[in-house]
Amino acid sequence: MRATDLLESRPDGLYCPQGDFWIDPVRPKPRAVVTHGHADHCRPGHEALLVTPETARIAAARYGAGAFGAVETLRCGETLRIGDATLRFAPAGHVLGSAQAVIEAGGARAVVSGDYKRRPDPTCADFEPVPCDLFVTEATFGLPVFRHPPTETEVGKLLASLARFPERAHAVGVYALGKAQRLAAELRRAGWDRPIFIHGALQKLCDVYRDLGVDLGPLEPATAKEKDRLRGEIVLAPPSALADRWARRLPDPVICAASGWMQVRQRAKQRGVELAMVISDHADWDELCATLRETGAETVWVTHGAEEALCRWCALAGVDARPLSIFGLGDEEE
Ligand SMILES: [Zn+2]
Ligand SMILES: [Zn+2]
Repeated sequence: MRATDLLESRPDGLYCPQGDFWIDPVRPKPRAVVTHGHADHCRPGHEALLVTPETARIAAARYGAGAFGAVETLRCGETLRIGDATLRFAPAGHVLGSAQAVIEAGGARAVVSGDYKRRPDPTCADFEPVPCDLFVTEATFGLPVFRHPPTETEVGKLLASLARFPERAHAVGVYALGKAQRLAAELRRAGWDRPIFIHGALQKLCDVYRDLGVDLGPLEPATAKEKDRLRGEIVLAPPSALADRWARRLPDPVICAASGWMQVRQRAKQRGVELAMVISDHADWDELCATLRETGAETVWVTHGAEEALCRWCALAGVDARPLSIFGLGDEEE
């Protein structure tokens, strides 16, 4: 069997005919294998959801207990037979619980990576390269201009600003799943041991991370009552909260953001960001190319992001590649 027979690209997502299941479908399906908890990959309404135990916890926190007919879990490394296919998960290094779906049938192997990064992340397991025939890659930052700087350098910018402006609150825009917890953990690694103040919208997922054993240090709710208490402190909030009235309650805030998109100056400017940290949960250009080489895949399918550029790189490297345009993927929380 050819690996390209293991997956069909359909408008709602990738479908495996041997196992009669979908991977990260954008509409409700009888059986969905979901790579991670971000909203563009994990949508409510599937009759059966198959995920890692960590993603199951995250999905329950986001959508509530009744969002799926049934939830099945599979740990990374365990194998499950589904119809004529076998499935296992391998860590993707993207957010807690994120996994690549490794699908095998008839001696062929396809890997759907979901979203991934290659930098170490104190809040989740490192990406594991899996040799395969067909590799489905994301391309969120799939242009040669995207090169993420070292995380320590970016975290250092925030700490330097806090030392320079001890009277000002430092409000950092971070998405609720992944970036908030990773930034907290990175700050702990850099020696910041004061409480980190969090917007209410981040509480639930921070609790899930902590329940699952990720050390985030002391977190406190960022309430408006004790405004002066927030001087010289770090406040984490969703980017939308920093754009509205909520941020005005903070004492003379330095508006910060932590995102791979902060490499694009125009975006930082549009959002009124004073301190931009380029901290991404996706692979940069070099890491995408290195990963494609490591998998040894003869065929690569490219989804959400700069699909054409990565396909051109593949053609030059002698790899058969094609862009997949799946509606609704890539509205990424980054
Ligand atoms: Zn994601
Ligand atoms: Zn994504």
